[in-house]
Amino acid sequence: MGDFFTGAIGKSDPLVADALHLEKQRQHSQIELIASENIVSRAVLDALGHEICNKTLEGYPGARFHGGGQYVDIVEQAAIDRAKQVFGADYANVQPHSGSQANLAVFFTLLRPGDAVLSLDLAAGGHLSHGLGANLSGRWFSAHHYGVERDSGLVDYDEVEMLAKEVRPKLLICGGSAYPREFDFGRMAAIARKVGAYFHVDMAHFAGLVAGGVHPSPLPHADIVTCTTTKTLRGPRGGMILYKENERNKDWGRRLQASVFPGVQGSLHTQVLAAKAVCLGEALQPSFADYAGRVKANAKALASTLLKSGIKLVSGGTDTHIVLLDLSDLGLKGAEAERVLDGAGITCNKNPIPFDHPRPQDWVGIRLGSSAATTRGLREEDFVELGLVIAELLKACADGSLEKNLPAARQRVTKFCDRYPIYP
Ligand SMILES: *Cc1c(COP(=O)(O)O)cnc(C)c1O
Repeated sequence: MGDFFTGAIGKSDPLVADALHLEKQRQHSQIELIASENIVSRAVLDALGHEICNKTLEGYPGARFHGGGQYVDIVEQAAIDRAKQVFGADYANVQPHSGSQANLAVFFTLLRPGDAVLSLDLAAGGHLSHGLGANLSGRWFSAHHYGVERDSGLVDYDEVEMLAKEVRPKLLICGGSAYPREFDFGRMAAIARKVGAYFHVDMAHFAGLVAGGVHPSPLPHADIVTCTTTKTLRGPRGGMILYKENERNKDWGRRLQASVFPGVQGSLHTQVLAAKAVCLGEALQPSFADYAGRVKANAKALASTLLKSGIKLVSGGTDTHIVLLDLSDLGLKGAEAERVLDGAGITCNKNPIPFDHPRPQDWVGIRLGSSAATTRGLREEDFVELGLVIAELLKACADGSLEKNLPAARQRVTKFCDRYPIYP
């Protein structure tokens, strides 16, 4: 076997090792503002790279199809118990391989092909797993969408109610990837009740804010809640399904178990399960509430700086970690802005804004998020400076003076990278 069990990747696979090294350097040398990203702890990384990845298991703790599962059982049970504690849930399934799989398992449990679902329009900040035509959810179910008001950028709850009465969805879905504001869970739940729909909240983006107690929890209102463990929750790539028991869902536990496995998945990603347990343990620490509070305060500082600098924001601000910029007044495309900011060491993504063009290359939005840079240590005054840099770059790009402005901007971003190192 030679050095099979001891040799480092740098020696055995230089191609992949070099790419990994460059990726690590890239992460260090830019400020991450992609709203769906974060930076996990060393403990989460340790779990992800652990020998537990060798273990194949199907089923649930105490009821497995393979032998040798006693230690993974400890890990999965810890993840379940912690998830319930973090979110005040009566049921938790921590096996979904990602947020999309968690949603799929919910649909598999509650819907039949052809059933109607009502969810936030992708263009208004929704998610592809909520009924996009190119996704299984849109192909197998009859997906209808509500949007936001053109002026306020907020969900139009009267429209939701009108559509719900018309469409009679089996499932009303709330949550999205680019909605910077809090949803009115109470109002949505009431609409679902009126039309006999189940109410599903996908809190993928804001789960960490809920865990940290700085965002209303959907658990008391929803029949079913899904989320990712990535994003603001700051864990590994993966999903979860949760609920707080009520009249409608009280016997869903067994069905959900069977929907995740063997319904839509096979064996566990054991190393991810361990990392989920670790991140949920972190979410129970008082320091997590502090982190969540700073994520929100930093997003507000970024938003108000951009607004003061004359940049238009969808919904005029944020209640979460997300800030969605509308570049239409500047005559800029999102793709262009993404490239310009990238040149200065700020990573973000082009995004549609409500009522945007259908083609991604024509979108006029960019989406920013505060969670990764907050984890890195940046404070409100740093986010104010970042906001100033971003506003200057965007305006320079619009008036053709970018060449002049870029070097100084890159320098200011590099200063942040050096002041707040990651994985030193
Ligand atoms: C990110 C996200 C998901 C899941 O994404 P995966 O990439 O499949 O983990 C699901 N729903 C929403 C609203 C999201 O933002």
